[in-house]
Amino acid sequence: MRPLIAGNWKMHGSLRECAALAGAVRQGAASAPPAADLLVCPPFPYLPLVAEALRGGGIAVGAQDCHAAPKGAHTGDVSAPMLKDVGATHVILGHSERRSDHGETDAAVRAKAEAALAAGLIPVICVGESEAQRLAGDAETVVSGQLEGSLPEGFAAAGGVVAYEPVWAIGTGRTPTEAEIAAIHGAIRTGLTRRFGAAGGTLRILYGGSVKPGNAKGILALANVDGALVGGASLVAADFLTIARAC
Ligand code: 13P
Repeated sequence: MRPLIAGNWKMHGSLRECAALAGAVRQGAASAPPAADLLVCPPFPYLPLVAEALRGGGIAVGAQDCHAAPKGAHTGDVSAPMLKDVGATHVILGHSERRSDHGETDAAVRAKAEAALAAGLIPVICVGESEAQRLAGDAETVVSGQLEGSLPEGFAAAGGVVAYEPVWAIGTGRTPTEAEIAAIHGAIRTGLTRRFGAAGGTLRILYGGSVKPGNAKGILALANVDGALVGGASLVAADFLTIARAC
């Protein structure tokens, strides 16, 4: 399947920096198109601007979270229909930083994913074990439990994306070995096909956590690694595109 390289810009950048980054990604992708679909996920306030800068350029725009309700008295929150309205096609949900900063449970992530699907957005649902869980040999159990709890019924029909991001690999420069990544992606694939049947075999499973130009090729060549969710390296257009061209 065609890989997806997604950039999670997290809470970085100013208006000017995000506009410049979007422009540089667009220009770089146009001059040497990667063999991958591209998605960038800016902070909420910059999403309309980035969507406008990328319009017609074949690069998708996503948000980093949404509320589970389509509207209502939820001060400070943003709904899935609002994201759709300003040009988003995807939304990252259940990132480990949301799970830890905001106490998001699997059930909360699932409710948000249902809202995303109802609004016509493709959810990119993040799962991943902590370092203690990995050291205890529980990585696969933790991840399959998170998938079971976080993925809504309509996920496969809508072409939902799973992102495996070991918490201890995010922003640390450390990654699991390629064999460990392949093993857990294989287990995720098995879980998806068990739950969704043949459709589960067609869903993308991204790897995230310290993906850089230097390690992208090896990781992206692994079975059942259908792309990457890139944090830090997605803030430098040349690095993001180098990763995409490693597909
Ligand atoms: P880094 O690529 O900075 O490790 O972040 C990964 C991540 O959390 C993407 O969602």
